[in-house]
Amino acid sequence: QRAEWALLKDQQSVSADGKTFVVGANIGSPKDMAAVLENGSEGVGLYRTEFLYMESDHLPTEDEQFEAYKAVVEKMAGKPVTVRTMDIGGDKHLSYWKLPDEENPFLGYRAIRISLDQTEIFRTQLRALLRASAYGNLWIMFPMIATLAEFRAAKKLYLEERTKLENDGVAMGEVKLGIMIEIPAAAVLADKFAKELDFFSIGTNDLIGYTMAADRGNDKVAYLYQPYNPSILRLINNVIEAAHKEGKFVAMCGEMAGDPVAVPVLMGMGLDEFSMSAPSVLQTRSLMKKLNTADMKLLAEKALDAETNDEVIALVEAATK
Ligand code: PEP
Ligand code: MG
Repeated sequence: QRAEWALLKDQQSVSADGKTFVVGANIGSPKDMAAVLENGSEGVGLYRTEFLYMESDHLPTEDEQFEAYKAVVEKMAGKPVTVRTMDIGGDKHLSYWKLPDEENPFLGYRAIRISLDQTEIFRTQLRALLRASAYGNLWIMFPMIATLAEFRAAKKLYLEERTKLENDGVAMGEVKLGIMIEIPAAAVLADKFAKELDFFSIGTNDLIGYTMAADRGNDKVAYLYQPYNPSILRLINNVIEAAHKEGKFVAMCGEMAGDPVAVPVLMGMGLDEFSMSAPSVLQTRSLMKKLNTADMKLLAEKALDAETNDEVIALVEAATK
């Protein structure tokens, strides 16, 4: 099987009936790029920049960040790299920057909520990203967006930094701007967001947790962490339909994107990009090649009309055997 996958390294990701998809990889640092390239990834669908902050003993400077982002976009040589602004908080802590203790850190001060509060730190990251955009195909997305006001505020800061750099004669690329869909509120209101941004990236790890109100790490409630629950599938489908209605692009960068049970359903829904850990890329490309999108569309319709997680698993088995 591995030999068969290896043959797909330099090929496009195409279904049996010729529909193309983008299969990308997730990274946490420029050090991960070797695996991204070895596995023939068509893009970096998620660069988790918080590791830059976590692995340092100080807030990374603009130049330190610029070098890291530039290294990644240069290695991808024109293929898209989606960089997520820092997602600190929740379970991700910094030794040199004490955040307030909270009763519910996962419902608290994290990610874009910190960035919009500590705007100098956010502006520094945006400047580093904009400078790096001159060296490849860089997209920026904001994590943990719940409201349109948050997206608009983040976009305003981005545009202000862009204008300043432009006035200073700094070279920049065209940058696409998007948000992570991790909070159900944003998934439900996707039609409104779709009018104002370039792309979505669905973060199913958090989206499932927040929708089911269940922490995967907690054994007592792990049974509620159900990726194929039709409630989750309907949220995902709502985001894809809303985006496509406005001609916008939809990626997924949560674990589900590389899950062989989910991939057939997501192909049927018309998801544009699947981003996953690099070792899953070729296996996913191989699976896509065997599936017909018309059949997967029927599967997706049945899955959206199902009642339970287990029912969806059985539907996928029947449709892909
Ligand atoms: C997600 O929530 O699905 C996601 C990709 O972000 P992270 O796993 O970094 O929280
Ligand atoms: Mg997340």
